[in-house]
Formats: sequence, C-alpha cells, structure tokens
Amino acid sequence: ESVVNRIAAGEVIQRPVSAVKELVENSLDAGSTSISVTVKDGGLKLIQVSDDGHGIRHEDLPILCERHTTSKLSQFEDLQSIQSMGFRGEALASMTYVGHVTVTTITKGQLHGYRATYRDGVMEHEPRACAAVKGTQIMVENLFYNMIARRKTLQNSADDYPKIVDLLSRFAIHHINVSFSCRKHGAARADVHSVATSSRLDAIRCVYGVSVARNLMTIEASDNDPSSSVFKMEGFISNSNYAAKKITMVLFINDRLVECGALKRAIEIVYAATLPKASKPFIYMSILLPCEHVDVNVHPTKREVSLLNQEIIIEKIQSSVESRLRNCNE
Ligand code: ADP
Ligand code: MG
Repeated sequence: ESVVNRIAAGEVIQRPVSAVKELVENSLDAGSTSISVTVKDGGLKLIQVSDDGHGIRHEDLPILCERHTTSKLSQFEDLQSIQSMGFRGEALASMTYVGHVTVTTITKGQLHGYRATYRDGVMEHEPRACAAVKGTQIMVENLFYNMIARRKTLQNSADDYPKIVDLLSRFAIHHINVSFSCRKHGAARADVHSVATSSRLDAIRCVYGVSVARNLMTIEASDNDPSSSVFKMEGFISNSNYAAKKITMVLFINDRLVECGALKRAIEIVYAATLPKASKPFIYMSILLPCEHVDVNVHPTKREVSLLNQEIIIEKIQSSVESRLRNCNE
C-alpha cells in the first residue's frame, strides 16, 4: 500500500516547484498577507514556506496530512465548483509520502504554537509546543528521497529554483496585497521581493522590472450575455519583446494560476499579425467567470484549463488585444 501511495503522491507532486505551488496556495487560502519561501538545492533538500495566515488548530494537526483532509469544502457550494478547483486535500498528504514534512503553526489568541512532523500520511508523534509568532511554516525536506529515479532525473537536469522564482513572481503580481519573498537558503538577497501595494503596475515594476512595466498597456474585455458567455478580463500587455524565446503569459482564472494553451496561441496570432516586432511579449491577464464554466482537466497537477464557450471568450480577448496593438502602430 505504501508503494501505491507513493506513486500516487509522485503524480500530485511531480517536481519541487509543484510542491511550492501547493504550499503557497494554501498560505493564500489561509488569508496571509506575507509569504516567504526558502529553497535549498532546487527544493530537493529543503522547501520552506512561512506565512502569517490564520494557522492550523491544534486539534486538526493529527489528521492534517491524511489524504482527503481539507478544511475548505464548506467554502464551495456544490460539487461542480469543487471540481473546478482541482483535487481537494491531496497536496499536503502527498508531500508526506515523498518527503519529510514539518508543520509549525499558531492560531489567533494562542500563547504558543505547535510543531508536528509527518511521514506517509501520518503524524509521527504528538505535536510539541513551541514558540511561534503568527501563521504557519511548512518545511518539506528531502523531497523524493524514496523515489531514486525521480531524484536522479531532477538532480541531472537544471534545478527547479528558476521555476520557483518564476512561480512566485507570478503570484506576486496577481495577489498584490500580499508581500512575497523567495530566496535560496542562506542567501542574504531575495530573488523575489514584493511589497504589498494597491497598484498592479507597481507590483509588476517591482517584480519584473522598470523596463517591462514601462511598455505595458492596460487591457480589458467582458461579455454579459448569459446565453453565450459571462466573463470579465483585465490585464496588461506589452508592446515590446520581453523574453527572447517565447511569449510570457501570466494567467489567472478565478484567482487561480493556470495555463490555457488555446488562449496563449490565440494571442500569439494577434501579435504576429498586428505587431510582429513584439512577438515575445509580456502578458498578464485575470479572468473572472462562473466556476461551472471552468474545466480543470481532472488531474491535480494539470493547470491546463478549458472554458465553456472558450471560442467566444478567446475571440473577445483577441479583438481587445488587437485594437490595443493597432493603436500603438499608429
Ligand atoms: P486543500 O488545500 O485542498 O484543502 P491541502 O492538502 O493542500 O488540501 O491542505 C490540507 C489542509 O491543511 C487545508 O484544507 C488547510 O486546512 C490546512 N492547511 C494547509 N496549509 C495551511 C496553511 N499554510 N495555513 C493554514 N491552514 C493550512
Ligand atoms: Mg491545498
């Protein structure tokens, strides 16, 4: 059974960056205003995520890392919207099957916190009282220590740290009221360091740099016709190249960081036709639409989504991008 659990867990947590994403999303769900990430050896030795969120109650610690333990179901009215968020209560449990997990947490009004360690879905011993200020710190050590082949593959390829920096950068420009930091263990300097702000453009400037922010234009689109689609999109697009190799598309749908290949390609087409000299632009888009219109392919790590009435939505977005780009050609 342990092998089966480990294989399943290895599917949910495919690489260090997938663990970081799950941990940071949990911190965001806990209402944090400050989230810091520390990484050692590309995340294989250590991933540590600290937040100042609402914490985890002492009585919830024993089952925290059992599969399908979630405190979030009550937030979702129906199964449909649960589905749209992907799997529930799998992430933390999965990490305990493929790494060593330590949770330190304190809830509001408590004098001290608790620390618990987990392996293979179970808490190792009673939580120990410890000093803590606010929120939760989760440490994942020795990821994939029991999956030799996976560890080898990851060790032989470029490490996940740049992917983790990229991930945190994306979170930081969407959740602008939260401050994020990301650094290598022991490093004085953080590679992502955002401060809470009320201006998205300021956040982009802070995270991606002045030269990117300078070349951005706002963009928006919407459709209120329930018979075709109901959505609202807003964001920024650049009128110059950002990366050398490909389009950089930061996409949030209903506040979840996702990928949508079809939308990305559609935008690439508009750039190629309208502003070919900027065919590797920077794009940030936030789309809001009814949960039941989002289909996350039912695999927990698949961040690829498809949308109900996708063609209509894509067309509207394309035409708003196009009219923006035409303006800067004139
Ligand atoms: P899910 O996020 O789908 O509920 P997870 O396995 O990611 O499942 O997390 C399990 C539960 O652990 C969450 O429902 C939440 O109650 C709790 N939890 C995890 N991380 C945090 C955190 N940083 N702050 C507060 N609670 C947390
Ligand atoms: Mg989660």
